[in-house]
Amino acid sequence: MAEAGSFAEKVKLQADIVRVVGEYVRLKKIGQNFAGLCPFHSEKSPSFNVHPVKQFYHCFGCGKGGDVFNFVMDMEKCEFPEAVKVVAEKCGIAIPRQKERSPEERKENQQRSVLVEMHREAQTFFAKQLEGTPEGKAARAYLEDRGLDKDAIARFGIGYAPSGGDALLRHLKSKYNEKLLSVSGLVSRDESAGRLFDRFRRRITFPISSESGKIVAFGARALGDDMPKYLNSPETPIYSKSNVLYHLDRAKEALRRQDFAILVEGYMDAIAVARAGISNVVASCGTSLAEPQIKLLQRFTKRVIVNYDPDTAGQAATERSLSLLLEHDFEVRVLALPPVGDKKADPDLFIRECGKDEYLKFLKEAPPYVDYLIARARQMDLTTGEGKQRALNFLLPYIQKIPNGILRSEWATRIAQQLRIDEPLLRSALSKAAKERRGVITTRPEMIGRAAKPVERRLIRMLAEAEGFRHELAKHLQNAHLYHGLETEKIFAALVIASLSGQPVQATEVGAVLEERDRRLLFEILFEEANEPSWEEAMSCIEALQHRQAERELADVQRSIEANPPGTELRGLLTVETLSDLNWSG
Ligand SMILES: [Zn+2]
Repeated sequence: MAEAGSFAEKVKLQADIVRVVGEYVRLKKIGQNFAGLCPFHSEKSPSFNVHPVKQFYHCFGCGKGGDVFNFVMDMEKCEFPEAVKVVAEKCGIAIPRQKERSPEERKENQQRSVLVEMHREAQTFFAKQLEGTPEGKAARAYLEDRGLDKDAIARFGIGYAPSGGDALLRHLKSKYNEKLLSVSGLVSRDESAGRLFDRFRRRITFPISSESGKIVAFGARALGDDMPKYLNSPETPIYSKSNVLYHLDRAKEALRRQDFAILVEGYMDAIAVARAGISNVVASCGTSLAEPQIKLLQRFTKRVIVNYDPDTAGQAATERSLSLLLEHDFEVRVLALPPVGDKKADPDLFIRECGKDEYLKFLKEAPPYVDYLIARARQMDLTTGEGKQRALNFLLPYIQKIPNGILRSEWATRIAQQLRIDEPLLRSALSKAAKERRGVITTRPEMIGRAAKPVERRLIRMLAEAEGFRHELAKHLQNAHLYHGLETEKIFAALVIASLSGQPVQATEVGAVLEERDRRLLFEILFEEANEPSWEEAMSCIEALQHRQAERELADVQRSIEANPPGTELRGLLTVETLSDLNWSG
């Protein structure tokens, strides 16, 4: 339980359960809620639901449910304090300093912070090389030629790794031992000679920072014709390529504000776009996006404009990234820049040659990914039946990922028109493909047996949600003892107490005081489709409950008549006041 005023409560208030769960489960928006395949039991159609407003989850299949901490505790198999920490980290909430647990952990943490320090020193070293050495002068000329002036060099920490082979090594050797140096990725080991030497030589260096802004790696571009043109740090204890998005540390604010990201391939592109005044740009720093990078990005936005290189590799990367982004329910547009002269244009080249205004113009007009894909499909040979089939096969996997049925249908019409494909034929192919994906909420038979009556379900829902009259309703229910003896009695009791407390009712807090089967029922009810409740409806539900209560009491009377011979007692029983209220016609 997150106690009031505690760090856990602070985290719970700031954390978005949809985001946190979304890092583990592919969630789709269905109505107001999100659903996906349950991570706790094996299933083919999604019965795992997340409630974005009430911030809890519930699986109709296996009955697991709770708040964001319960989820992380179950997923990560950890205890409450650890779950709080995990959620805080995911949401970028600073964790109060804590003692480290094991000696190994302390050692690893120590090593990581030394490596970060080493990267900081390397950064200073590279910057100085660029600024104050004859070799650096040539590098500066090259950068200027690419439109990178002093400001850009300072802003993006651009540096230079000299050609000598051990300049950085000599610089760092006095402070760090060989073992640390070789795990840092800054130096490499010549296996035959057993010597260490600089990994980056005669290259322009670009610091790569983690989300929090610590330099964890370098990207380096060859100054001359050395191969490879781009060389990055290897995987190290502080750097994993698929876990880092270049420029994210500086883009965070803009990503949240603008609620979309521009995704480019390399750091030169990201720098060019950022310098054009568009700060919500990140680079995947690889040919395509990796799953952890998507999870990182979706914490800030779920809308992306993909602006990869227009070459074949870039196109393939665009399509791979598209697939992955769509699977994670991103809204995606694709910006394919026109060639500049006879050169295919990446964002860097395009902005340099055509200016930022022209880039902005294209950015604003970037079409939804389906248009991009149709354009790609139209490049295929559409004169033959087989050609059309190929084009359709290319498009279908993407189209079927559109969650919205109306949109899917609109696209079907457009594709049929543009590719001159028979529309009914296309639709049947689409609906077949869509059926394989459609999310249907399934209820297990054992749950149905225990289902509460509609009136009870409705009142429970109102107690949990009807801010306007919840308090009044709770008083009514309590005074007339209306829920006593019901199957849902305990749920009512907990909700009535919560409603009368004057505090907002938190589903997960109420669920926490209930037995497992009652909690399951409560969560189920909260996920049902429902209209806005009204006081009138509440009153008619209460009447229905009164009616049922009277029926129950009458049945008691009849049982007791059968059990006891008529006598003085009967007259007393028959004056039970509720009998006079009974509506016999109903
Ligand atoms: Zn489940």
